[in-house]
Formats: sequence, C-alpha cells, structure tokens
Amino acid sequence: MATSHCVGFPRIGKHRELKKATEAYWRGDLDQSALMAEGKRLRSMHWRMQQNAGMDRVATGDFAWYDQMLNHSLMLGAIPQRFRDGNETNADNLLDTLFRMARGRAPTGKPAAACEMTKWFDTNYHYIVPELHKGQTFQLTSQSVIEETAEAIQQGFNTKPVLIGPLTWLWLGKIKGESFDRLELLNSLIDVYGQVLEELAKAGADWVHIDEPVLVLDLPQPWLQACENVYNRLQNHNVKIMLATYFGGLNDATTTVVNLPVEGLHVDLVRAPEQLLQELDRLPAYKTLSVGVIDGRNIWRSDLSAILEQLKPAREKLGDRLWVSSSCSLLHVPVDLSTEEQLDDEIKSWLSFAVQKCEEVAVLGRALSGDSSDSTRTRFTLSDAVACSRKTSRRVHRKDVEQSVSAITPGMMQRQSPYAKRHSLQREKLNLPLFPTTTIGSFPQTSEIRRQRSLYRKNQLSNQQYLESMQQEIQSTIKRQESLGLDVLVHGEAERNDMVEYFGEQLDGFAFTEYGWVQSYGSRCVKPPIIYGDISRPAPMTVTWSVFAQQQTDKVMKGMLTGPVTILCWSFTRDDIPEKVSCEQLALALREEVVDLEQAGIQVIQIDEPAIREGLPLRKADWPEYLDWAVNCFRLSASGVKDETQIHTHMCYSEFNDIIEYIAAMDADVITIETSRSDMELLDAFEEFEYPNEIGPGVYDIHSPNVPERSWMKQLMQKAAEKIPAERLWINPDCGLKTRDWPEVEEALSNMVQVARELRAEY
Ligand code: GLN
Ligand code: ZN
Repeated sequence: MATSHCVGFPRIGKHRELKKATEAYWRGDLDQSALMAEGKRLRSMHWRMQQNAGMDRVATGDFAWYDQMLNHSLMLGAIPQRFRDGNETNADNLLDTLFRMARGRAPTGKPAAACEMTKWFDTNYHYIVPELHKGQTFQLTSQSVIEETAEAIQQGFNTKPVLIGPLTWLWLGKIKGESFDRLELLNSLIDVYGQVLEELAKAGADWVHIDEPVLVLDLPQPWLQACENVYNRLQNHNVKIMLATYFGGLNDATTTVVNLPVEGLHVDLVRAPEQLLQELDRLPAYKTLSVGVIDGRNIWRSDLSAILEQLKPAREKLGDRLWVSSSCSLLHVPVDLSTEEQLDDEIKSWLSFAVQKCEEVAVLGRALSGDSSDSTRTRFTLSDAVACSRKTSRRVHRKDVEQSVSAITPGMMQRQSPYAKRHSLQREKLNLPLFPTTTIGSFPQTSEIRRQRSLYRKNQLSNQQYLESMQQEIQSTIKRQESLGLDVLVHGEAERNDMVEYFGEQLDGFAFTEYGWVQSYGSRCVKPPIIYGDISRPAPMTVTWSVFAQQQTDKVMKGMLTGPVTILCWSFTRDDIPEKVSCEQLALALREEVVDLEQAGIQVIQIDEPAIREGLPLRKADWPEYLDWAVNCFRLSASGVKDETQIHTHMCYSEFNDIIEYIAAMDADVITIETSRSDMELLDAFEEFEYPNEIGPGVYDIHSPNVPERSWMKQLMQKAAEKIPAERLWINPDCGLKTRDWPEVEEALSNMVQVARELRAEY
C-alpha cells in the first residue's frame, strides 16, 4: 500500500479569505479572536479538501498568518531586540509580535523597522529573513505547529506535521552585527527542534516531515557534515522523520543524505527525475522513500500513466515503503480549478491546481497499491486523453511559430554596428544634453485610472470611452513632464494593469484565470498568466499608444516594453518544451513590436528585464546555460532596429557582480538600474568591468514617500561620475513611479532635473 501525503497546501483560501481577514485585522475592522476563528475555519477546510481528494495524510504546520519561515523564527524565539518589550511572547501578544516583525507595525505594540524579506529559492514566494547574531540561543516560544497538529487530530484527520529544518532556517538567515560562523548556533537550535518533536509526538503525531531544501544547493562541506550531526541528534524523539528535499536533485550529496539516520526521505522527481534510480540503489533497507512526482510549481495536469511507468522499479523494490506526493508544497499553485468559469473547456482540461493535484497524488497512491477499480481506471483514461490532446493540439503546436524559431540566426541577435558607432549616431540624432534625464516608465496609477479600467472590464465603458480617458491621462502626464523639463519622456503606462499581464493578454499562446491567485508575500497575491502554447503576436501591442504620446510633444518619447525573460519568469510556463524555446518565441514577438515602433517614428525603446536575475538556476553550474539563452533572447528582441534607434533596458536589483559580463553582453545602449540605496556602490561592478555603454544609476528610492533632496542626489551623481565617465551617465529614479502620488513625484522629479542642470554646468 503506497501512502499518499501532502507536503503543504496553499493557506490563502480559494477566495483569498486569509488575505481579506488579515487585512481587516490590520485595519482594525476585525478583532483578534475573530481572526483566530477564521484561521481555524480555513485550516479545517483545507484539511478536508485534502482528505476529500483522497490523500492518506494531510499536512499540518503549513498554515501561516504571514509566512512559514517567520513562524519558525517565532517557534524558536528568534525575535530581534527591537520587537521586544518584555511582553512580546505573551499568548495575547504573540500574533502582533509576528505582524510587527513582518510589517513593522501591528494593531498593538510599538512600531519598529520590519525584518527583511526575500525570495524563497527560485520561486516568486517571499519569506521573512531570520536575524542571527553571535551567541544567540533559542527557546521554544510559539507552539502553533503543535497546537495546529493537535487541532487536526482532534478533528479526526490523519496528519503529518511539516517543519522547515534547522539547516534551512539557519542557512537562509542573515547575520546582524559582528560576523561569526552561524553553524555555532546549531546546538541550541537542535535542542528546540528536539523539544518540538517530543511535543508533536505527545500531540499524537507519528511521522514528522522536515523540509531541508538547502540540500539541493551547492552546500559547503561543513554544512553537509553538520547535517549528519543534526539528524543524529534528532533521532529517537518518539516520531519518525521524513526528511524532504525539493527544487532540485541531491547530486553530490546523495550518499550522505540517503544514509542520514531518519526513517524517510522525500525527493523531487519533477525537477530531478534522474535521481530516482541512484537513490533506489543506495537507500538502506529500512527506509521509506517519498517520491514527489506531481509538479508543485506548475499548473499542468500530470500524465499519470507515464508517472506510474516511471515508478515501477520503486514499487517493486519498496512495496509499502513507497510514498507519493507533489514535488514540493502546493503553496506555489492556485487553490482550486473548479472555481474557474471563464476558462475555455479545452485549456481547463489541461490544468490542475492544488485540490486537483491532491487528487492526482491520491490516484497514483491507489494505483501503486494495486487498485484497479473503475474510478481509478477512469482517472487514468482521462489523464491519457489530456496528454494526447496537449501533444496534438493545433493551439499548442503551431507550424508557423516553429518555423520562425528555427529560422533564428546569430545575425538576428546582433545590432548592425558596434556600440561606439551607434553611440555617436544616436548622439547626433537625439541631440540630448549631458546627464540626460528620464524616468523608468510608469507614473502614478491613480484611483481614477483604476476606476476607469474596472468600469471598462465590467463593460460599463465602451472601447472608445476607455481609450479617450486613457489618452487624456497620457496627455496630462506628458504636460507635467514637459513642465518639469525632463529630456526623454514616457507615456506613463496608464493603460497597463500589470507589466506582464498587459502583454500576455495581447499575445497568442497565453491564458488567464479569474481566481488563480498565488501567495507572493504576506497577504499579497499574484495571478500569473499561463503560457499554454506557441506564442505569436497577432497585432501591434503598444504602437498606437506610443504614437499618440509622441504626437503630443516635440521631446523624445520612449516606447515601453516588457522583455521576453521577464514575461517568461512571471508566468506559468509550459512543461512540454524547454523554457528557452518559449522565451525565443516571446523574443520574436517583441522584436516585431520593436521594429513596428521604430517604423512609427519612436526613436528610443526601453525593454524592461527586471526578472533576469531571479531566473537564475539554484546551482551555479547551471548559470551559464541559462544566462546564455536569456541574454540571447533579449538581444533577439532588441536587434531588429537601425543604429540610430536607442535601446534601453531596466533592471531593479542589487547584485550585478557575478553576472556583469552577461549584463554587458545584452548590449543595451542605455541601462537604468536601482542604485540609490546602495550609495552607488553597485556601480563598482560596472567600473571594474569597464562597462562600455551608457548607464542611468537610480538617484532616488521610489519605495519611499520621502522627497529626495537635491544635495543628496547631486552627491550620488558625483560619486557615479568618479566611476563612470560623465558622458555616459543618465539621471533617473530607481524604478517606475506607479505606486506613488503626483505631488511627491513632481517635487522629486523637479529636484532631480535641477540636479542635472547644476551638474551640466560643472562637468
Ligand atoms: N517600466 C516599468 C515601470 O516603470 C518597470 C517596472 C519594474 O522595473 N518592475 O513600472
Ligand atoms: Zn524597476
């Protein structure tokens, strides 16, 4: 009998109930006991959804008011000093301590600087970064995982609590103050984990699932040794341990991990199918193997027959010691496909969200246990039909797109002349001053703009009415830029709801859900588009808007596009072709757009690529391959134009050192980057590399409502000019201004333009 189990379920609720409740609590519209009751109701509902789907074991401990890493910090008592007032761990205060750590404030308690937040491995989920300091000790504080497990057992569920392991928690933390070897903290950490295991056993748990995704990274040797030490000490706490790895294969760590003194091992066979046979070979005879075969990172329905075939050797060798599950927590997919009513039937039949994925796991579990009942067989027949329909559908596979991709030549990724020549031609044509000023694209998305869009979506505004109201918005945005004295203007992106969705909606090969929400951080959710088929551009996407904008002014108007890698990274991608191929298709579609913009008279075109860095694979050895195709796709999208047309790109992150050669290889004429918070230190990488093209280092942080002072921005630019020749510097904010209000934007930009004028007089 193969056990089917859940490694984690979305907590946000199929109608984002958790978001609504926590936000109401933050606003003061819901009291703590009502929020607690809503959490309890959601947990119970989610366990029932897993059980109804046929899962043998449901997950507990995966619930979080904000984030699961933050839950662990509270479990361990790792609460930074600034959130402590002597009562911060009292039962009544713990929830607000948690929210203060996450957001800097809560209905009660003193506000303090929130903890940092960063991306969870290569996902779009963000966790709250634990803060570590020398000599830190831990004590069991929040008992939520134990209480919630007891809650599930009381309600009659067959559970399996899920913890994030001590190594992963420690690895992902950040040292504050004096530096030290963080492995020194392990002893105290293991004591608390040991206690938690004992308490879980008392609450009635027999198996505990411990996630150690760090084991798929390039882990230094001392950490692998520490891993043996940790799990030696965590055995014999009255529960069996299922050690879980995901997001990749174990590679060199296989032997160590397979031999750890734990009763079970979970592996990700979606990302790393090749590891199955190695592990089967080396797995000690007493051990249970949990195979993660249903993709927890994507929304496709699985090919059950193919998986059953793949698992044959495992079934023969392991019998009852084989468990099945999704590759990783289902946190990364939307909750329930059955809520979707607008999706067309064919596409819908290809998809599977968290509930459906639980059903797939359960069916596999039954089939592996030898069940050949009608209901199980029907499931397989259905899955076979879906696999066949996706393989043969003309909506997925398009000869014309396939041909365009195979016709890509290296020459198409090359501008006509080297940068030096383009530079002087563009100089002459655009006639820009020293230190040209520009912005990154968006201007405030006012409530009026959002209201118009929502009316339009509800069909309460005609096409023409919507068009006119957006045109008015664009006109006024241009007027404001003219009076501010900016050099290169933008239209402001008023007509765009989101920089990826806007393009996806106009491209063939994309589908959109109504309720396909996925948690991004805290109460914030995103609804990624789905790339289901070959991509093409049926018609120009931005040309009318840009032409209209250019007609309103004598200044240079910058056309604004989202780059192929960013569209890819922020969508659910196909699992039947390599991501590289979808990216090439996107690049070809954008290339057509770029050429059309040029032909319509747009002389400067920006192709945003804020996501290139986050697409990096988890292991360094895989970086060059990814970066090669990512850079090539950007170049493919940008290189169809004449030398005189100036291509900009924009990125907003803080690490360029290790990828600077690839950034340079993108060969954008101008790159604008986020730098203000790093005091221009980010430019060091560009300086050392002798980066040849133009750079616009952001001079103020758009995340803050504070208006930047002139002296501050000027000093930043003087620093920049010590690293990069002044003739190659632009002046611009760090990123787009869509989240800001007009008054602060006008004041900030007016200061910025003034700084440019002063600098021109001095250089
Ligand atoms: N052009 C986009 C904007 O200004 C860029 C956004 C981004 O970098 N994330 O909003
Ligand atoms: Zn940005």
